[in-house]
Amino acid sequence: MSCVLVFAGLDPSGGAGLLADAETVRAFGLRPLCVATALTVQTTARAVRFEAVSPSLVLESARALLAEEDVAAVKIGMIGSGAVGRAILAALEGARVPIVLDPVLAASSGAALLAPDGLPALLELLQGAIVTPNAPEAHALLGLPEAPRDADALEAAGRALLARGARAAVLKGGHLEGEAIDVVVSRRGDGIEVLRLGGARLAGTKRGTGCRFASALACGLLLGRSVAEAARGAKEHVRSYLKLP
Ligand code: PLP
Repeated sequence: MSCVLVFAGLDPSGGAGLLADAETVRAFGLRPLCVATALTVQTTARAVRFEAVSPSLVLESARALLAEEDVAAVKIGMIGSGAVGRAILAALEGARVPIVLDPVLAASSGAALLAPDGLPALLELLQGAIVTPNAPEAHALLGLPEAPRDADALEAAGRALLARGARAAVLKGGHLEGEAIDVVVSRRGDGIEVLRLGGARLAGTKRGTGCRFASALACGLLLGRSVAEAARGAKEHVRSYLKLP
């Protein structure tokens, strides 16, 4: 069975991180392979702190899985530290599968999930990847003067992420004022295609929506869908998750 190789932090409460990713990949009928990048102290209500896993352990684990399992897509979530980010980069050297990068910086509660030295590693992991930032993450990745506030600003950020080397950018609009419009910016031939995905904002504040979105996107790409189709599918998957009691 085709596998999605997931790099993410372990949130022991299961709301976000590796456990949420594994749940998502299984919901698509696929098999998750999970490499923990960090262990976090978290409950449903709050994130307290984390410790990054040893980079050599991450590298060894990923290399073993890539050599012996049928990895057909990769999802990278929380990397925790620059050293772990570089280990992931080394493990994925030469990988010829879609790579989805969710540039996790902090938990919704505000607690940091990336050490200050981690940003350059994220920018390296961005090369050739399909990146899924929300507005604050796009702000930090690109060093923008302010976080995008509307769909036009998200689109501009998406174009800038492609100029920085991303294969595509799926910008999540959950932090926008008003309607939560997601913007998909991808390469098409010599040009760039932009798609806006609307949808009324659903009530509730469940955790791990960003993790689930990126994993669902990786599953869609593994199943041969275009970035735009996979983004639609991922949005639908997250909407169904938000509607669960
Ligand atoms: N914990 C881990 C390990 C994560 O990977 C993520 C991903 O974004 C989060 C927490 C953040 O989840 P939330 O935004 O729901 O707090």
